[in-house]
Amino acid sequence: MNNYKFITDQLRNEMLQYQIKSRGISDPRVLNTFKTVERHLFIPEHSIETAYSDHALPLNDGQTISQPYMVALMIENLLPDNYTLPKKVLEIGTGSGYQTAILAELFEQVISIEIIPELKIRAEKILNQLGYKNIVFIAGDGSKGYPDLAPYQGIIVSAGAPDIPEVLLEQLDEGGKLVIPVGNVQIQQLNIIEKQKDNYIKTKKGGCVFVPLKGEYGWKK
Ligand code: SAH
Repeated sequence: MNNYKFITDQLRNEMLQYQIKSRGISDPRVLNTFKTVERHLFIPEHSIETAYSDHALPLNDGQTISQPYMVALMIENLLPDNYTLPKKVLEIGTGSGYQTAILAELFEQVISIEIIPELKIRAEKILNQLGYKNIVFIAGDGSKGYPDLAPYQGIIVSAGAPDIPEVLLEQLDEGGKLVIPVGNVQIQQLNIIEKQKDNYIKTKKGGCVFVPLKGEYGWKK
């Protein structure tokens, strides 16, 4: 068992060094959480051979667990520039729950919505076992956000959207940021939108590939 921990710690350190730091992620808050959260616990059958590899991994129902670097890039852009603990983040697409754990370390509260009920149940079980108490799990369509608990200091969308849903912008707090991949079903651009005095300042962070966002403001079949 100790040997197992030694291996997973080592693989995680290598992931941090060669996939995350070397590509320019430098926020110490982000680096610390990537060092501590045990990614292999969220991978089906705890496959340690692939858990720390440099790409997305398959989950159930054709869904995927995002590449570690992409999670780090999104979260570095989501966090406010100052070092106070932001209050509330809305995560759309719980998936494996790995990114949910990272967010739970960096925000006071996480509201996480997943459209596939089985995935919501699986992630909730793992994160409860790990002792996280600051996550609200919801099964449903997150493309509409979750107005009941708005406003949010951050909203992070882990699936590719055809456009930026207006309803998500409305649920942002002053100074809050929305991180969302926008494009077609094959390829998207990572968009960061910051709300400042009722203006929305948009920047783009390059190309990315996500599974399609479903639901009312996603891709309708
Ligand atoms: N960050 C997650 C990414 C999972 S893939 C991880 O690393 O595990 C994206 C997830 O978004 C899938 O689980 C998919 O079912 C979910 N999803 C897609 N459209 C959604 C919607 N409208 N509301 C909530 N979840 C959605």
